[in-house]
Parts: sequence; structure tokens; C-alpha cells
Amino acid sequence: MHLATNSITHGSIITLKANGIPMRSLLTDLRASMLRAASCTICRVEANALKIDQAAIDFYPIAQLYNNTCIPPGWDSPPIAHTLRDALSLASCSPSEVTAIQVALAAPKAHPTQKLYNLCIVECATSDWELLLQRRLDVLLPGCSVNIPRASRNLFDSLAHTPLSQKMMIIRTVVNSWATSCRYHEKIILDCVYGCNNDHPFLADTLKRDELAHYLVCPRLWKIVAHAYPMQQPRPHPLHLMCLRFADSDPIPMVLAHIIYHSTRHSRGPSLAIKPSNKHYDDIITSAGKTAKAAAKSLYSPD
Ligand SMILES: [Zn+2]
Repeated sequence: MHLATNSITHGSIITLKANGIPMRSLLTDLRASMLRAASCTICRVEANALKIDQAAIDFYPIAQLYNNTCIPPGWDSPPIAHTLRDALSLASCSPSEVTAIQVALAAPKAHPTQKLYNLCIVECATSDWELLLQRRLDVLLPGCSVNIPRASRNLFDSLAHTPLSQKMMIIRTVVNSWATSCRYHEKIILDCVYGCNNDHPFLADTLKRDELAHYLVCPRLWKIVAHAYPMQQPRPHPLHLMCLRFADSDPIPMVLAHIIYHSTRHSRGPSLAIKPSNKHYDDIITSAGKTAKAAAKSLYSPD
């Protein structure tokens, strides 16, 4: 499951994980791995860092010294020995992480070293999930006032007993991470891939672009969903569809919309960049309808 760059913050992963969304921070894993390598795996880190500095001095001015360390201009990153030396001295950790790590290391070890570092880093992080959710809803539903703590609670309650794949599709929706041409800043920004612009071709309406803010209310997409999966209301509010309005929301309509959209983008690909005719849109909608029915059937009787 791909997410657009920076869809989820490092801090918000803590809240997601605590609420049954099994995500891990790659950044935390990398830092913990570096700390473990510096302290347990690679010997003589400090001595090797000094040797590298000396080698830079020997070859001066080919490699110029910067602040007495070997980072010549043009290098992308410092040598690995320096990175490990910094890790060993906890130079890359925040003050609270340094304290937590020192306390954990002084205590009898209950966890393997890397897990210990991982726990220390995670425990010191501050969750910014609600701020992130607010920012995403400002884009997806501009002008819509939402009680963020309650919406967040409703989301996690609604997803509590949902299969992992469905959880991820809803989270991907809530954080505005569908693979639309707008979200991925593609060279050509597409119109709504189901042809909403052809309904009112003389109106310049940016909300009919290929972006999630439109698909949350796209009449053509939701008609396809409703044909495949009967909904209690014909056009539920996007907050309801994203499982943010009630604690017992049904995630399946939004999961279907997610599947249908990405199947259309994947199968139609570049052909969507050439403004399709009405006939072409009819084909797209017919094909999306078949995808929707097959997906709805598999969701009714999962393996
Ligand atoms: Zn549309």
C-alpha cells in the first residue's frame, strides 16, 4: 500500500499504532538500527572515525575539512564512521531520548538492544495525529467544521474489527493519499476520470479535477458504488463515508470507492490524459461497474 510522500507524520504513527493500525516508523527503525550498530555490532567506531579524519588531512586539499570533520564540499552525507560515532555518543537523539536510553541501558535488559532503542525513541515522540487529521480535512472538506477528537475516536471505533486491508484503505483516504494526478503533482492534472466535467462543460469547476476532494462527492463514482453495494442513504456525507461521523460506520462503501478509482487509474493509465469522449467515459463507467460488483462480492465473503 503506497502512500503519497509525507501523508503521515512520524508522530501520528504512534496514535495509529495504539489504535490497531499496525504501522511502523521507518525513521524510528533506522535510528534504532544505527544506535544498535554503533554500540553493539561495529567495533572501534570512534577510532575509525578519527582515521577517516586523518586520511582527509593527508589528502588535503583534495578533501577539505569542514568544522574539523571530513565532510568535503559536494559530499551528500558524512562518512558512515562519523554517523556511527555520532550515534554512539547519542548526538542524533533529543535530550529526552538520551535520558530514556541511558536509563534503559542502566537497567537490567528486558529487550534486545535494538528493540530497547526503538521503545525509547517511540516513547519520547509526541503524537500529532489530531493536527494532521485537521490539516487533511481542511483540504478534503474545506469549510466543514469537525470535532477532531470525536471524529478520530469514531474512526478508530469503526475500524476496530475491520480487516487490515480495509483499515489501510480508509486511513489512506483520511490522510488524502489516493494516487490522483493532483496529489502526486503530475505534469498533467486530469479531469474527474468518470467524466463529471462533461456534465457541465461550460463551467470552470476545479472540484471536478482528478483529486480526492472531488471523488468524495463525485456523483458518477458514488452511483457506481451504490449499484454494487446498497447503502442506507443514497448520498452519505463524506464524513460518514470516511468513518468519522459515527462510531459504528460501515467502511465498505469507501473501500469500494478506493478500489474502483485505483483500478480505473491503473487500467486506463495514460489514455486518461487525452480528454476522453462521452463514449470513452461510458466504457470507463461500465468497466468500473464490473470491478465494483466483483469487489463487493469478495468483501461480502472474504477468504
Ligand atoms: Zn466526478
